[in-house]
Order: sequence, then structure tokens, then C-alpha cells
Amino acid sequence: MNRNPHHPPFNASLASEPAGPRKTFAAWLTVILSLVLFAVALPYAQVALTPFPAFIPIYVTALVIFDLVTAVLLFGHYRALRSLGLLVLGGAYLFTATATAAYALIFPGLFAPYGLLGSGPQTSSALYMLWHAGFPLILIAYAFIKRWEQAGPVHRRGPRALWSIAAMTAAIGLLVALFTVFATAGHGFLPTFLEGNRTTVVGKAFLAGIWLLSLVALGLLLRSRPHSLLDVWLHVVMCVWLLDLALAAVLNTGRYDLGWYMGRIYGLLAGGFLLIVLLSENARHHARLRELTTALESANETLWRLSMQDSLTEVANRRAFDLHLAEHVALAQRHQRPLALVLLDVDHFKTYNDEYGHQLGDACLKAIAQVLQASGKRPSDLAARYGGEEFALVLPETDPEGALHIANAAQAAVAQLRIPHRQCPTGPHVTVSAGIATLHQGDRLTPQSVIEVADKALYQAKNAGRNRIVLLEASALP
Ligand code: GH3
Ligand code: MG
Ligand code: MG
Repeated sequence: MNRNPHHPPFNASLASEPAGPRKTFAAWLTVILSLVLFAVALPYAQVALTPFPAFIPIYVTALVIFDLVTAVLLFGHYRALRSLGLLVLGGAYLFTATATAAYALIFPGLFAPYGLLGSGPQTSSALYMLWHAGFPLILIAYAFIKRWEQAGPVHRRGPRALWSIAAMTAAIGLLVALFTVFATAGHGFLPTFLEGNRTTVVGKAFLAGIWLLSLVALGLLLRSRPHSLLDVWLHVVMCVWLLDLALAAVLNTGRYDLGWYMGRIYGLLAGGFLLIVLLSENARHHARLRELTTALESANETLWRLSMQDSLTEVANRRAFDLHLAEHVALAQRHQRPLALVLLDVDHFKTYNDEYGHQLGDACLKAIAQVLQASGKRPSDLAARYGGEEFALVLPETDPEGALHIANAAQAAVAQLRIPHRQCPTGPHVTVSAGIATLHQGDRLTPQSVIEVADKALYQAKNAGRNRIVLLEASALP
């Protein structure tokens, strides 16, 4: 569950996140600008311009790169979200990249005077038709899949994403290869789309059909709500695509007129839009990921601190004590160093609670904890709440003399607090008893047995009248 209302959940992506009004506005503004450009260019669409043969290789190279990168990014989104729609959409872009590459191979004058692979004069037009009919057809499939996916939950099981992508790539490669073979080896069967540089009536009819197919694709995409950011930009792509087709194939006369050039520039823009959106979304997600990582690190730090801290007294809790003691007992044994453990228990604390109430009892425990915290001066010393009104001081590298000194100082500091305790038999103020266990160099004892010895010492201190300290050597344990 996303608990932070200021940030969308991180699994939101441009394919699942609904497009906000600002981004939708930007997308439709692009469509309006494209329409204005189209309206300006329309009267001149049939004006013949100088044939610029280098234009086609530049155009197809850019288009193939744009579409390939877009396909890879969409497949990446598919791998993350496992939505079939994204696989199909990636397939649509892979298809245009492959069909464009095939178109470049057989385009007359590019690799050979009449194109490679023994292409005929109609081959490039046939491939152009395949490319421009295939893309809207796949988008129609995407619109239906999207609706189907919205009807039920996305199936995250099924074949592994990489296998699905490989199968999609193979299917597209095969389709384009088969059609290219048909359009080259079987160019005798192709209708006449182009005579010289001019499109024939048959060619125009085919192109008009493709244009209508693209319009149907746009209509279906617009109908399948809600629109994600990806969908909104697909609408833009299809609008620009329709303008591209209208200018470059339907309303112009043939190759190398203004409409033809403009249409191809539109084609490049249509290819680039989605890529730009995908890349900028990726950058946005990266920034968000960094933000989240920082927040997560700080949350982890807080959680770690809370898991090691006693909530009432704010000194180390039992878990932190256990870890610290185990670590330092092991170190003391490995390096043959001394160690001391002091257990302190508030004297007659039950009576204190009865007399002053639990709240004052808590305040008393807090004050004692602060005093004990200050009593260990070395970084490896640890003051912890052992449980109830019992505290512990772990004192690594401390011999019995040092431990006694610190325990005495701690006891004196508690007395110094002068917390009134009227019913206390040991005096008018709160006192503590302490039991010390000392570990000699080389003593092989478990942390648990060190605690047992300290506990035994504490018990002796209590039995001897309280408000006193007893020290036992850990090796004295029977
Ligand atoms: P002595 O240790 O001197 O033998 O007597 P005592 O009265 O302190 O004995 P005991 O250790 O059995 O009692 C501990 C009391 O500490 C019991 C409980 O009411 C109180 N206590 C434990 N934890 C807390 C706490 O978090 N807040 C408060 N107010 N009291 C606590
Ligand atoms: Mg106790
Ligand atoms: Mg007590």
C-alpha cells in the first residue's frame, strides 16, 4: 500500500499510470501543431522538389533506430508489467523497424539501381504498403488486448517474458521476410502502384484503404479508456501517422514532391514522439528511484534504531544488549582480553510504584537509564535496559577493578539523582543494587553463563541488604 500521498506507487509506469491533464494537454498540443503544419503544406503537396536520393537512407536509418529503441523499451516495460498489450505494442514497433529495413534494402538506387534481392519496380511500394498496413493492424490488436486485459487481472504467469519476446521477434522477422520474398521473387503478381515517380490509381486506392485502416486504429485506441500516458502518445503517433500517409501517399503525386518529403518528416516525428516520452519517463523513474532509495535508507536506519532501542528509556534494548554482549564475549575470548558485565536492579521498586504510581515509576526508570548511559565512557561500553527495572552495563576490555569503579560511579550517580522513595528500607532515596561478572583473559564462557554469574552476584547483593555491589568472577560458576 502506498502510504505517501505525494508520490505515486513506484510500480506506476507510463503504461499503467493514467495520463494527467497536463501531459494530455501537451500531447494534444502536439497534434494541433502538426495539423497547422499540415494545413500550411497541403496546397503545395504536389509541388515537385529536387530528388535528393540521400534523403531515403537518412530517413530509414533514423526510423529503424527510433523504432528499434522504442521496441526494446516497450519490451522492457512488458518484462516489468507482464501485460500482453505491451508485448504487442513492442511488436508493432519492431515490425515497423523490420519492414523499414526491408524497404531500405529493396529501395531503388539505395543498394542497387533497382534495389537488392532482385526487386522489381513495384517492390518498394508493396513493402511500403505492408509497413503502413501492418502497424495500424497491430495497434488494432493492441486496442482489443487492452480492453481484454482491463476486463480481468493481468496474467503474470504464462511463458517467461524473454521467450514471449523471442517468439514475437521471430514471428515478425518471418512475416516481413516472407512478404519481402513475395514482393521480390513474385513481383510479377504485384499490381502497378507506381509508374515512374507517380502513384497510379490502384496505388492510390490501396493507400486510401490503409489510411482508413489507420483511422479505424485511432478510433479504437480512443475508445479503449482509461487512457494511460502511453495511450495518449499513441493517439498523437496515429494522428501524425495519418497526416504522414495523407501527405506522402494520398494527396501528393509521387516520389520527391513536397508532400512526399513532408510526410516522411512526419513519419520520423511519429517515430520519435513515443521514444522521447519513453526515455523521459525512464529518466523520471530513475530520479524517483533515487528519491525512494534515499527515503528507504533513512527509513531503514530509523527502523534499525527503533528495533535496538528501548521505547521508554531510549537506551539500548534487550536485543541490542544480547548482540553486543555476544560480540564482545567472542572478541574477549579471541584476543584474550578481560570483559565485565554489570547487572543493576532498582531496590524496592514495587513499593515505589505502589507509593508514587506507574507514571512516576516510568519517569524514575528514565532518569536512571540516562545516568547509566553516561557512566560508560568508552565507545564499546553499552548501557541497556535488561527488562523491567533491571539494567545492564557491558564493559569490554575492563578488568574487575575497572568494573567495580564504574559500578560504584553508576550507583553513586543514581543516588545523586535523589529521587524520593519514602517507603524504602535502604534510605529516603531510590537506590540500586549491582552484580558484576568479570571474564578473565582466556575464560571460555558463553554470554548466557556470563549473565548467569552477574545475576547470581546481583542476587547476593540483594540478599545482603540491597544498595550494594557484589563482584563474581565468571570462571567461579560451578
Ligand atoms: P528488589 O528488586 O529490591 O528485590 O524489589 P523490587 O520491588 O524492585 O522487586 P522486583 O524486581 O520483583 O519488582 C520489579 C517491579 O518493577 C515490578 C514492576 O511493577 C516494576 N516495573 C517493571 N517494569 C516497569 C516499568 O516499565 N515501569 C514501571 N513503572 N514499573 C516497572
Ligand atoms: Mg527486578
Ligand atoms: Mg528491583
